[in-house]
Amino acid sequence: MSTSPSPAPPASWLPLDLLFDNPVFAGGAGLAGLGAAAAISRKLVGTGVSTLKRRLLLNVEISKKDDSYEWILKWIALPRPQTGFITSRLTRVNQMSMKTARLQSKTGQGQYNFFLQTGYGKHILRHKNAFISVNREKQSSYNMQTGEPHETITLTTLYAHRHIFEDIFGEAYALARVAQEGKTIMHTTNGTNWQVIGEPRKKRPLNSVILDAGVKEKIADDVKDFLAMQEWYVDRGIPYRRGYLLHGPPGSGKSSFINALAGELDFGVSIINLSERGLTDDRLAQLLQKVPARTLLLLEDADAAFVNRRKMDPDGYNGANVTFSGLLNALDGVAAGEERIAFLTTNHIERLDEALIRPGRVDMTVRIGHATKYQAAEMWDRFYGDIDEDGKGRERFLSRLEALGLFGDQLPTSTAAIQGLFLFNKGDMNGAIDMAEGLIPKIYEA
Ligand code: ADP
Repeated sequence: MSTSPSPAPPASWLPLDLLFDNPVFAGGAGLAGLGAAAAISRKLVGTGVSTLKRRLLLNVEISKKDDSYEWILKWIALPRPQTGFITSRLTRVNQMSMKTARLQSKTGQGQYNFFLQTGYGKHILRHKNAFISVNREKQSSYNMQTGEPHETITLTTLYAHRHIFEDIFGEAYALARVAQEGKTIMHTTNGTNWQVIGEPRKKRPLNSVILDAGVKEKIADDVKDFLAMQEWYVDRGIPYRRGYLLHGPPGSGKSSFINALAGELDFGVSIINLSERGLTDDRLAQLLQKVPARTLLLLEDADAAFVNRRKMDPDGYNGANVTFSGLLNALDGVAAGEERIAFLTTNHIERLDEALIRPGRVDMTVRIGHATKYQAAEMWDRFYGDIDEDGKGRERFLSRLEALGLFGDQLPTSTAAIQGLFLFNKGDMNGAIDMAEGLIPKIYEA
Protein backbone atom coordinates (compact mmCIF):
# COMPACT_ATOMS: atom_id res chain seq x y z
CA MET A 1 0.00 0.00 0.00
CA SER A 2 1.41 3.16 -0.85
CA THR A 3 0.52 6.23 0.48
CA SER A 4 0.88 9.33 -1.40
CA PRO A 5 1.46 12.41 0.57
CA SER A 6 -1.66 14.39 0.69
CA PRO A 7 -1.31 18.00 -0.48
CA ALA A 8 -0.66 20.48 2.31
CA PRO A 9 -3.75 22.49 3.14
CA PRO A 10 -3.53 26.17 2.12
CA ALA A 11 -2.47 28.39 5.09
CA SER A 12 -5.34 30.68 4.36
CA TRP A 13 -7.85 31.09 1.62
CA LEU A 14 -6.19 34.44 0.89
CA PRO A 15 -3.03 34.22 -1.20
CA LEU A 16 -1.12 36.14 1.48
CA ASP A 17 2.18 34.35 0.86
CA LEU A 18 2.03 35.44 -2.67
CA LEU A 19 1.53 38.98 -1.55
CA PHE A 20 4.20 38.95 1.11
CA ASP A 21 6.64 37.29 -1.20
CA ASN A 22 6.16 40.26 -3.45
CA PRO A 23 8.96 42.69 -2.46
CA VAL A 24 7.02 45.77 -3.57
CA PHE A 25 3.99 44.87 -1.48
CA ALA A 26 6.04 43.83 1.54
CA GLY A 27 7.91 47.15 1.53
CA GLY A 28 4.64 49.12 1.25
CA ALA A 29 2.99 47.14 4.04
CA GLY A 30 5.99 47.76 6.25
CA LEU A 31 5.77 51.47 5.67
CA ALA A 32 2.02 51.50 6.20
CA GLY A 33 2.51 49.56 9.42
CA LEU A 34 5.05 52.04 10.62
CA GLY A 35 2.75 54.91 9.65
CA ALA A 36 -0.17 53.35 11.48
CA ALA A 37 1.96 52.69 14.54
CA ALA A 38 3.14 56.31 14.49
CA ALA A 39 -0.42 57.57 14.14
CA ILE A 40 -1.62 55.36 16.98
CA SER A 41 1.21 56.41 19.23
CA ARG A 42 0.57 60.09 18.34
CA LYS A 43 -3.05 59.59 19.20
CA LEU A 44 -2.12 57.83 22.41
CA VAL A 45 0.28 60.62 23.30
CA GLY A 46 -2.39 63.18 22.37
CA THR A 47 -5.00 61.41 24.50
CA GLY A 48 -2.46 61.03 27.27
CA VAL A 49 -1.57 64.70 27.13
CA SER A 50 -5.18 65.80 27.17
CA THR A 51 -5.95 63.40 30.03
CA LEU A 52 -2.93 64.74 31.85
CA LYS A 53 -4.01 68.29 31.08
CA ARG A 54 -7.49 67.55 32.38
CA ARG A 55 -6.07 66.00 35.53
CA LEU A 56 -3.30 68.45 36.19
CA LEU A 57 -4.66 71.75 34.94
CA LEU A 58 -7.67 73.81 35.86
CA ASN A 59 -9.34 76.22 33.42
CA VAL A 60 -11.60 79.07 34.45
CA GLU A 61 -13.51 80.70 31.62
CA ILE A 62 -14.94 84.19 32.06
CA SER A 63 -17.42 85.50 29.52
CA LYS A 64 -17.57 89.14 28.54
CA LYS A 65 -21.18 89.10 29.68
CA ASP A 66 -20.04 88.58 33.26
CA ASP A 67 -19.29 91.59 35.48
CA SER A 68 -15.93 90.13 36.46
CA TYR A 69 -14.65 90.30 32.86
CA GLU A 70 -13.62 93.96 33.06
CA TRP A 71 -12.14 93.52 36.54
CA ILE A 72 -10.02 90.58 35.40
CA LEU A 73 -8.85 92.43 32.27
CA LYS A 74 -7.63 95.28 34.45
CA TRP A 75 -6.06 92.90 36.96
CA ILE A 76 -4.11 91.10 34.21
CA ALA A 77 -2.78 94.40 32.89
CA LEU A 78 -1.32 95.35 36.30
CA PRO A 79 2.45 95.80 36.20
CA ARG A 80 4.19 92.86 37.91
CA PRO A 81 7.75 92.57 39.20
CA GLN A 82 9.83 90.31 36.89
CA THR A 83 11.99 88.74 39.57
CA GLY A 84 13.86 85.46 39.06
CA PHE A 85 15.29 83.86 35.93
CA ILE A 86 12.29 81.68 35.06
CA THR A 87 9.68 84.30 35.81
CA SER A 88 11.39 86.97 33.78
CA ARG A 89 11.73 84.64 30.77
CA LEU A 90 8.36 82.96 30.94
CA THR A 91 5.92 85.58 32.02
CA ARG A 92 4.75 88.33 29.79
CA VAL A 93 1.59 89.90 28.53
CA ASN A 94 2.47 89.87 24.85
CA GLN A 95 -0.05 92.19 23.41
CA MET A 96 -1.91 95.15 24.80
CA SER A 97 -4.86 96.98 23.29
CA MET A 98 -6.00 100.54 23.77
CA LYS A 99 -9.27 101.34 25.47
CA THR A 100 -10.71 104.85 25.24
CA ALA A 101 -13.44 106.06 27.56
CA ARG A 102 -15.33 109.23 26.79
CA LEU A 103 -16.33 111.34 29.76
CA GLN A 104 -19.08 113.91 29.46
CA SER A 105 -18.18 117.05 31.34
CA LYS A 106 -20.79 119.37 32.81
CA THR A 107 -20.29 121.82 29.95
CA GLY A 108 -21.21 119.08 27.52
CA GLN A 109 -17.67 118.90 26.16
CA GLY A 110 -16.13 115.50 25.75
CA GLN A 111 -13.07 114.43 27.70
CA TYR A 112 -11.15 111.25 26.97
CA ASN A 113 -9.34 108.77 29.17
CA PHE A 114 -6.94 106.27 27.61
CA PHE A 115 -5.68 103.10 29.17
CA LEU A 116 -4.00 99.92 28.05
CA GLN A 117 -5.59 96.56 28.53
CA THR A 118 -4.64 92.98 27.77
CA GLY A 119 -4.88 92.22 24.05
CA TYR A 120 -6.19 89.09 22.38
CA GLY A 121 -4.13 85.90 22.35
CA LYS A 122 -2.15 83.94 24.92
CA HIS A 123 -0.15 85.43 27.76
CA ILE A 124 1.57 83.97 30.77
CA LEU A 125 1.84 85.62 34.13
CA ARG A 126 2.85 84.71 37.59
CA HIS A 127 0.76 85.37 40.66
CA LYS A 128 2.32 84.49 44.00
CA ASN A 129 3.94 81.12 43.21
CA ALA A 130 1.54 80.02 40.47
CA PHE A 131 2.05 80.42 36.73
CA ILE A 132 -1.15 81.29 34.96
CA SER A 133 -1.83 81.09 31.28
CA VAL A 134 -4.28 83.71 30.03
CA ASN A 135 -6.12 83.31 26.75
CA ARG A 136 -8.30 86.19 25.61
CA GLU A 137 -10.37 85.14 22.60
CA LYS A 138 -13.11 86.46 20.37
CA GLN A 139 -15.79 83.84 19.76
CA SER A 140 -17.42 83.18 16.43
CA SER A 141 -20.87 84.03 17.83
CA TYR A 142 -22.13 87.61 17.94
CA ASN A 143 -24.24 89.70 20.24
CA MET A 144 -27.32 90.20 18.07
CA GLN A 145 -28.00 93.60 19.57
CA THR A 146 -24.61 95.25 19.31
CA GLY A 147 -23.07 93.20 16.53
CA GLU A 148 -19.98 92.70 18.71
CA PRO A 149 -18.41 89.24 18.86
CA HIS A 150 -18.67 87.40 22.17
CA GLU A 151 -15.42 87.23 24.09
CA THR A 152 -13.95 85.05 26.76
CA ILE A 153 -10.86 85.03 28.92
CA THR A 154 -9.62 81.61 30.03
CA LEU A 155 -7.24 81.40 32.96
CA THR A 156 -5.38 78.12 33.33
CA THR A 157 -3.18 76.97 36.15
CA LEU A 158 -2.05 73.74 37.79
CA TYR A 159 -4.85 71.94 39.55
CA ALA A 160 -2.66 71.97 42.65
CA HIS A 161 -2.76 75.79 42.50
CA ARG A 162 -6.54 76.04 42.06
CA HIS A 163 -6.96 78.06 45.27
CA ILE A 164 -5.11 80.92 43.60
CA PHE A 165 -8.31 81.81 41.72
CA GLU A 166 -10.05 82.91 44.91
CA ASP A 167 -7.15 85.20 45.48
CA ILE A 168 -7.15 86.53 41.92
CA PHE A 169 -10.87 87.26 41.85
CA GLY A 170 -10.69 88.83 45.30
CA GLU A 171 -7.86 91.12 44.19
CA ALA A 172 -9.53 92.00 40.89
CA TYR A 173 -12.78 92.85 42.68
CA ALA A 174 -10.98 94.92 45.32
CA LEU A 175 -9.18 96.78 42.53
CA ALA A 176 -12.48 97.53 40.81
CA ARG A 177 -13.98 98.72 44.13
CA VAL A 178 -11.10 101.08 44.78
CA ALA A 179 -11.38 102.49 41.25
CA GLN A 180 -15.08 103.07 41.85
CA GLU A 181 -14.82 104.46 45.37
CA GLY A 182 -16.44 107.86 45.59
CA LYS A 183 -17.87 107.31 42.11
CA THR A 184 -21.30 106.57 40.72
CA ILE A 185 -21.58 104.05 37.90
CA MET A 186 -24.14 105.00 35.28
CA HIS A 187 -25.75 102.37 33.08
CA THR A 188 -27.68 102.95 29.92
CA THR A 189 -29.47 100.73 27.46
CA ASN A 190 -28.01 99.14 24.38
CA GLY A 191 -30.69 97.16 22.59
CA THR A 192 -32.06 94.79 25.21
CA ASN A 193 -28.88 94.98 27.28
CA TRP A 194 -27.44 97.35 29.82
CA GLN A 195 -24.02 98.92 29.46
CA VAL A 196 -21.92 101.22 31.59
CA ILE A 197 -21.71 104.82 30.33
CA GLY A 198 -18.07 105.90 30.17
CA GLU A 199 -16.02 105.93 33.34
CA PRO A 200 -17.71 106.05 36.78
CA ARG A 201 -18.56 109.66 37.70
CA LYS A 202 -17.48 111.41 40.85
CA LYS A 203 -20.28 111.12 43.39
CA ARG A 204 -22.43 114.23 43.62
CA PRO A 205 -22.87 115.15 47.30
CA LEU A 206 -26.50 115.15 48.37
CA ASN A 207 -26.12 118.56 49.97
CA SER A 208 -25.21 120.06 46.60
CA VAL A 209 -28.78 119.50 45.43
CA ILE A 210 -31.10 122.01 46.99
CA LEU A 211 -34.75 121.05 47.09
CA ASP A 212 -37.50 122.70 49.09
CA ALA A 213 -37.36 122.30 52.88
CA GLY A 214 -37.58 118.65 53.97
CA VAL A 215 -38.16 117.18 50.47
CA LYS A 216 -34.76 115.53 50.11
CA GLU A 217 -34.93 114.05 53.59
CA LYS A 218 -38.47 112.72 53.03
CA ILE A 219 -37.45 110.74 49.94
CA ALA A 220 -34.00 109.69 51.18
CA ASP A 221 -35.43 108.43 54.51
CA ASP A 222 -38.10 106.45 52.70
CA VAL A 223 -35.53 104.77 50.43
CA LYS A 224 -33.32 103.96 53.42
CA ASP A 225 -36.27 102.49 55.35
CA PHE A 226 -37.12 100.39 52.31
CA LEU A 227 -33.57 99.13 52.02
CA ALA A 228 -33.62 98.09 55.66
CA MET A 229 -36.82 96.07 55.17
CA GLN A 230 -35.79 93.49 52.59
CA GLU A 231 -36.40 90.57 54.94
CA TRP A 232 -39.90 91.80 55.74
CA TYR A 233 -40.82 91.71 52.05
CA VAL A 234 -39.16 88.35 51.44
CA ASP A 235 -40.85 86.74 54.49
CA ARG A 236 -44.24 87.81 53.19
CA GLY A 237 -43.56 86.85 49.58
CA ILE A 238 -44.07 90.42 48.38
CA PRO A 239 -41.92 91.61 45.47
CA TYR A 240 -39.26 93.82 46.96
CA ARG A 241 -39.97 96.90 44.87
CA ARG A 242 -40.54 100.56 45.53
CA GLY A 243 -41.34 103.33 43.10
CA TYR A 244 -41.12 107.13 43.27
CA LEU A 245 -42.58 109.65 40.89
CA LEU A 246 -40.79 113.00 40.75
CA HIS A 247 -42.61 115.61 38.73
CA GLY A 248 -42.06 119.26 38.01
CA PRO A 249 -40.62 121.61 35.41
CA PRO A 250 -37.29 120.96 33.72
CA GLY A 251 -34.20 122.23 35.49
CA SER A 252 -35.60 121.78 38.99
CA GLY A 253 -33.03 119.19 40.03
CA LYS A 254 -34.90 115.89 39.60
CA SER A 255 -32.10 114.02 37.82
CA SER A 256 -29.42 115.67 39.94
CA PHE A 257 -31.20 114.53 43.09
CA ILE A 258 -31.51 110.92 41.91
CA ASN A 259 -27.80 110.82 41.01
CA ALA A 260 -26.81 112.32 44.34
CA LEU A 261 -29.09 109.93 46.25
CA ALA A 262 -27.52 106.98 44.41
CA GLY A 263 -24.10 108.25 45.48
CA GLU A 264 -25.23 108.59 49.09
CA LEU A 265 -26.51 105.00 49.10
CA ASP A 266 -23.45 103.71 47.25
CA PHE A 267 -25.67 102.64 44.36
CA GLY A 268 -25.30 103.19 40.63
CA VAL A 269 -27.99 104.55 38.31
CA SER A 270 -29.62 102.68 35.40
CA ILE A 271 -31.32 105.10 33.01
CA ILE A 272 -34.03 104.45 30.45
CA ASN A 273 -35.54 107.35 28.57
CA LEU A 274 -39.12 106.33 27.85
CA SER A 275 -39.41 108.80 24.98
CA GLU A 276 -36.49 107.19 23.15
CA ARG A 277 -37.54 106.14 19.65
CA GLY A 278 -37.32 102.45 19.07
CA LEU A 279 -37.91 101.57 22.70
CA THR A 280 -40.72 99.05 22.36
CA ASP A 281 -42.79 97.38 25.08
CA ASP A 282 -40.84 94.16 24.55
CA ARG A 283 -37.48 95.84 24.90
CA LEU A 284 -38.61 97.66 28.03
CA ALA A 285 -39.88 94.42 29.58
CA GLN A 286 -36.59 92.68 28.82
CA LEU A 287 -34.55 95.54 30.24
CA LEU A 288 -36.56 95.62 33.46
CA GLN A 289 -35.90 91.92 33.96
CA LYS A 290 -32.21 92.52 34.32
CA VAL A 291 -31.67 95.94 35.84
CA PRO A 292 -28.05 95.94 37.08
CA ALA A 293 -27.80 95.08 40.78
CA ARG A 294 -27.40 97.91 43.31
CA THR A 295 -28.64 100.60 40.99
CA LEU A 296 -31.54 103.02 41.15
CA LEU A 297 -33.66 102.59 38.04
CA LEU A 298 -34.43 105.97 36.48
CA LEU A 299 -37.30 106.02 33.97
CA GLU A 300 -37.14 109.46 32.41
CA ASP A 301 -40.03 111.16 30.62
CA ALA A 302 -42.64 108.79 32.02
CA ASP A 303 -45.36 110.81 30.26
CA ALA A 304 -44.11 109.54 26.86
CA ALA A 305 -45.83 106.20 27.48
CA PHE A 306 -49.11 107.96 28.19
CA VAL A 307 -48.92 110.08 25.08
CA ASN A 308 -48.45 106.91 23.09
CA ARG A 309 -51.60 105.42 24.50
CA ARG A 310 -53.56 107.91 22.49
CA LYS A 311 -51.65 107.22 19.32
CA MET A 312 -52.38 103.48 19.29
CA ASP A 313 -54.18 102.10 16.27
CA PRO A 314 -57.42 100.09 16.68
CA ASP A 315 -55.44 96.86 17.09
CA GLY A 316 -53.59 98.33 20.00
CA TYR A 317 -50.39 98.47 18.00
CA ASN A 318 -48.23 101.48 18.63
CA GLY A 319 -45.19 100.80 16.51
CA ALA A 320 -41.79 101.72 17.77
CA ASN A 321 -42.56 103.25 21.19
CA VAL A 322 -43.49 102.25 24.68
CA THR A 323 -47.20 102.22 25.42
CA PHE A 324 -49.04 102.77 28.67
CA SER A 325 -49.93 99.10 29.10
CA GLY A 326 -46.37 98.18 28.11
CA LEU A 327 -45.03 100.36 30.91
CA LEU A 328 -47.43 98.91 33.49
CA ASN A 329 -46.65 95.34 32.42
CA ALA A 330 -42.94 95.99 32.54
CA LEU A 331 -43.27 97.55 36.01
CA ASP A 332 -45.22 94.79 37.65
CA GLY A 333 -44.89 91.76 35.39
CA VAL A 334 -43.72 88.57 37.07
CA ALA A 335 -40.51 88.80 35.13
CA ALA A 336 -39.85 92.40 36.16
CA GLY A 337 -37.04 91.56 38.55
CA GLU A 338 -37.79 90.87 42.20
CA GLU A 339 -35.73 93.71 43.63
CA ARG A 340 -36.08 97.22 42.38
CA ILE A 341 -36.07 100.87 43.37
CA ALA A 342 -37.47 102.87 40.48
CA PHE A 343 -37.68 106.62 40.00
CA LEU A 344 -40.02 107.89 37.32
CA THR A 345 -39.65 111.50 36.27
CA THR A 346 -41.92 113.71 34.23
CA ASN A 347 -42.36 117.36 33.38
CA HIS A 348 -46.06 116.73 32.68
CA ILE A 349 -47.85 115.05 35.55
CA GLU A 350 -51.18 116.01 34.00
CA ARG A 351 -50.52 113.48 31.22
CA LEU A 352 -50.10 110.59 33.64
CA ASP A 353 -52.74 108.13 34.73
CA GLU A 354 -53.93 107.25 38.23
CA ALA A 355 -53.21 103.60 37.42
CA LEU A 356 -49.54 104.32 37.96
CA ILE A 357 -50.06 105.02 41.66
CA ARG A 358 -50.06 101.47 43.06
CA PRO A 359 -47.74 99.86 45.60
CA GLY A 360 -44.64 98.63 43.82
CA ARG A 361 -45.31 100.87 40.79
CA VAL A 362 -45.31 104.32 42.40
CA ASP A 363 -45.44 104.42 46.19
CA MET A 364 -44.57 108.09 46.66
CA THR A 365 -45.25 111.10 44.44
CA VAL A 366 -43.24 114.26 45.02
CA ARG A 367 -43.35 117.57 43.24
CA ILE A 368 -39.98 119.14 42.62
CA GLY A 369 -41.10 122.55 41.51
CA HIS A 370 -39.87 126.02 40.65
CA ALA A 371 -37.39 127.72 42.92
CA THR A 372 -38.76 128.74 46.31
CA LYS A 373 -37.36 131.43 48.59
CA TYR A 374 -35.92 128.70 50.79
CA GLN A 375 -34.03 127.16 47.87
CA ALA A 376 -32.78 130.54 46.59
CA ALA A 377 -31.41 131.31 50.08
CA GLU A 378 -29.72 127.90 50.41
CA MET A 379 -28.17 128.17 46.96
CA TRP A 380 -26.88 131.64 47.80
CA ASP A 381 -25.18 130.29 50.90
CA ARG A 382 -23.53 127.50 48.92
CA PHE A 383 -22.11 129.94 46.38
CA TYR A 384 -21.44 133.10 48.43
CA GLY A 385 -21.58 131.90 52.07
CA ASP A 386 -17.85 132.48 52.53
CA ILE A 387 -17.86 136.09 51.27
CA ASP A 388 -21.30 137.14 52.53
CA GLU A 389 -20.43 136.74 56.18
CA ASP A 390 -23.21 138.86 57.69
CA GLY A 391 -25.86 137.54 55.26
CA LYS A 392 -26.73 141.05 54.06
CA GLY A 393 -26.03 140.16 50.42
CA ARG A 394 -28.43 137.23 50.68
CA GLU A 395 -31.18 139.50 52.08
CA ARG A 396 -30.71 141.96 49.20
CA PHE A 397 -30.80 139.16 46.66
CA LEU A 398 -33.96 137.59 48.09
CA SER A 399 -35.73 140.97 48.31
CA ARG A 400 -34.80 141.64 44.70
CA LEU A 401 -36.27 138.30 43.56
CA GLU A 402 -39.39 138.98 45.57
CA ALA A 403 -39.73 142.44 44.04
CA LEU A 404 -39.38 140.92 40.57
CA GLY A 405 -42.18 138.49 41.44
CA LEU A 406 -39.93 135.47 40.95
CA PHE A 407 -41.31 133.36 43.80
CA GLY A 408 -44.63 131.63 43.49
CA ASP A 409 -46.40 130.64 40.34
CA GLN A 410 -46.59 134.01 38.68
CA LEU A 411 -43.07 134.31 37.31
CA PRO A 412 -41.58 130.98 38.19
CA THR A 413 -37.86 130.57 37.81
CA SER A 414 -35.91 127.35 37.98
CA THR A 415 -33.15 126.37 40.35
CA ALA A 416 -31.08 125.61 37.22
CA ALA A 417 -31.46 129.27 36.18
CA ILE A 418 -30.37 130.50 39.63
CA GLN A 419 -27.36 128.19 39.51
CA GLY A 420 -26.55 129.56 36.05
CA LEU A 421 -26.66 133.14 37.40
CA PHE A 422 -24.33 132.26 40.29
CA LEU A 423 -21.93 130.39 38.04
CA PHE A 424 -21.75 133.41 35.74
CA ASN A 425 -20.99 135.63 38.73
CA LYS A 426 -18.57 133.35 40.53
CA GLY A 427 -17.23 135.16 43.60
CA ASP A 428 -19.17 138.34 42.67
CA MET A 429 -22.35 138.54 44.72
CA ASN A 430 -23.13 142.11 43.68
CA GLY A 431 -22.93 141.04 40.04
CA ALA A 432 -25.48 138.29 40.78
CA ILE A 433 -27.84 140.77 42.45
CA ASP A 434 -27.49 143.24 39.57
CA MET A 435 -28.24 140.55 37.01
CA ALA A 436 -31.18 138.99 38.91
CA GLU A 437 -33.58 140.39 36.35
CA GLY A 438 -32.17 137.88 33.90
CA LEU A 439 -34.01 135.20 35.88
CA ILE A 440 -37.35 136.38 34.55
CA PRO A 441 -38.40 133.59 32.20
CA LYS A 442 -38.13 134.74 28.59
CA ILE A 443 -41.67 133.66 27.83
CA TYR A 444 -43.06 136.38 30.16
CA GLU A 445 -41.08 139.23 28.66
CA ALA A 446 -43.22 139.88 25.57
P1 ADP B 1 -34.26 118.17 35.92
O1 ADP B 1 -33.91 116.74 35.99
O2 ADP B 1 -35.32 118.55 36.91
O3 ADP B 1 -34.63 118.63 34.53
P2 ADP B 1 -31.49 118.61 36.41
O4 ADP B 1 -31.23 117.85 37.66
O5 ADP B 1 -31.09 118.00 35.13
O6 ADP B 1 -32.99 119.03 36.33
O7 ADP B 1 -30.77 120.03 36.57
C1 ADP B 1 -30.16 120.75 35.51
C2 ADP B 1 -28.94 121.49 36.02
O8 ADP B 1 -29.33 122.48 36.98
C3 ADP B 1 -27.93 120.61 36.73
O9 ADP B 1 -26.65 121.05 36.35
C4 ADP B 1 -28.11 120.85 38.20
O10 ADP B 1 -26.87 120.86 38.85
C5 ADP B 1 -28.74 122.23 38.26
N1 ADP B 1 -29.85 122.21 39.24
C6 ADP B 1 -31.15 122.26 38.95
N2 ADP B 1 -31.89 122.23 40.08
C7 ADP B 1 -31.03 122.13 41.09
C8 ADP B 1 -31.20 122.07 42.50
N3 ADP B 1 -32.42 122.04 43.05
N4 ADP B 1 -30.09 122.01 43.28
C9 ADP B 1 -28.88 122.04 42.71
N5 ADP B 1 -28.65 122.10 41.37
C10 ADP B 1 -29.72 122.16 40.57
